[in-house]
Amino acid sequence: TLSDRLGGVFDKLRGRGALKEQDVVDAMREVRIALLEADVALPVVRRFIDEVTEKAVGQSVLRSVTPGQQVVKIVNDALVDMLGGEETVGLDLVAAPPVVIMMVGLQGSGKTTTTAKLAKLLREKHGKKAMMASLDVNRPAAQDQLKVLGEQVGVATLPIIVGQQPVEIATRALNAAKLQAVDVLLLDTAGRLHVDQQLMDEMKAVAAISNPKETLLVVDSLTGQDAVNVAQSFGSQVDLTGVILTRMDGDARGGAALSMRAVTGKPIKFAGTGEKMDAIEPFHPGRVAGRILGMGDIVSIVEKAAATIQAEDAEKLAQRMAKGQFDMNDLRMQLRQMQNMGGLGALAGMMPGMKKAKAAMQQSGMDDRVLLRMDAIIGSMTPKERSRPELLNAKRKIRIANGSGTQVQDVNKLLKMHQEMERAMKQIKKMGGLKGLAAMFG
Ligand code: GDP
Ligand code: MG
Repeated sequence: TLSDRLGGVFDKLRGRGALKEQDVVDAMREVRIALLEADVALPVVRRFIDEVTEKAVGQSVLRSVTPGQQVVKIVNDALVDMLGGEETVGLDLVAAPPVVIMMVGLQGSGKTTTTAKLAKLLREKHGKKAMMASLDVNRPAAQDQLKVLGEQVGVATLPIIVGQQPVEIATRALNAAKLQAVDVLLLDTAGRLHVDQQLMDEMKAVAAISNPKETLLVVDSLTGQDAVNVAQSFGSQVDLTGVILTRMDGDARGGAALSMRAVTGKPIKFAGTGEKMDAIEPFHPGRVAGRILGMGDIVSIVEKAAATIQAEDAEKLAQRMAKGQFDMNDLRMQLRQMQNMGGLGALAGMMPGMKKAKAAMQQSGMDDRVLLRMDAIIGSMTPKERSRPELLNAKRKIRIANGSGTQVQDVNKLLKMHQEMERAMKQIKKMGGLKGLAAMFG
């Protein structure tokens, strides 16, 4: 597996510290193989590796995980990001009815099946009145196939008139949908074996008269290196609004997802997971990232390790606070915890008493960048200065300001803040330590 291979890369690097460029480059060679094995298209692999290498170099290695595991986490996060983040993206149906959804894609990708699945979803989950029309006049049985599926899912299909061309059928479907007060009209376009200009022109003509709110590219998740071509040719001919990946129930590792997303820039909205009419799910980037890398477990190990370390640090800080100790190292630990917890905004949302404090901080121009700047200032202090901030004279302050890319007045602000917090800690100790503090907030 990828983690074994990365383990090999990082066997030499047992120490802590930051990830070095050469280590990351070696690790990325393994990641590259994993991505290619998952069928991610080569140009997309290259771009991804470049981006992740840049992100990973210099990141500090967490205690209690191996550098290899940490790299997996970084790769995973970047993959989730590239696949669209944590959110799932649904259909956009905000338009005057009938809202048109046009399905496009290669023959056999699952367009007709997916059209019926979506119609069922719209009817049952969204309470919409849907109608479907097949524009596939190339294969004799195609229109019948949609009709049969329509009967299965309880959604009307446009009556078939033999001999009509796609644009005529689309026009007739629009009129019927208007007359019957249909909310959503799904157009299932003709299949193409390869990208073929005549069929592309036909698809564009249909789009021009039906003005689709959603144009969804249906792609078989088993599509390997060809995914880039498919995405590029459809993407350049019609205004795609999203992608649906079918056959995610099969062996595909899901590399096509990354290729499609990278090339079209459009969200992957659904995943088809079987032949049955309810085998469709919102697309979850996190799940698919785990599948592409083949290692969801490692990601959760690293997440847990990070959480444990935060808890350990918090405990250490609490003990020192109870003794009334609070030096620059403690301040830095607290700043980092604030960042880890999502910055000042998240912190204020969590603690009732913090709302006022946050407003005050914002008024004084303090935001999350300030946290980073303060961290940099402490980073430019020597260990001795950190534990004994009273050593900081004018000369040392200038050195620290230069070293951290800040001004002496920033250093002074930090010192003032530290003094105030130190005083507060002593106060807390007098009031009976943390228990007293808890009583105050309680
Ligand atoms: P079209 O040519 O693009 O319209 O493709 P079809 O909708 O006719 O689908 C071709 C075949 O793929 C059919 O046998 C479908 O049952 C099957 N199929 C479609 N989507 C899925 C899916 O998500 N999983 C599986 N296992 N089969 C699917
Ligand atoms: Mg079809």
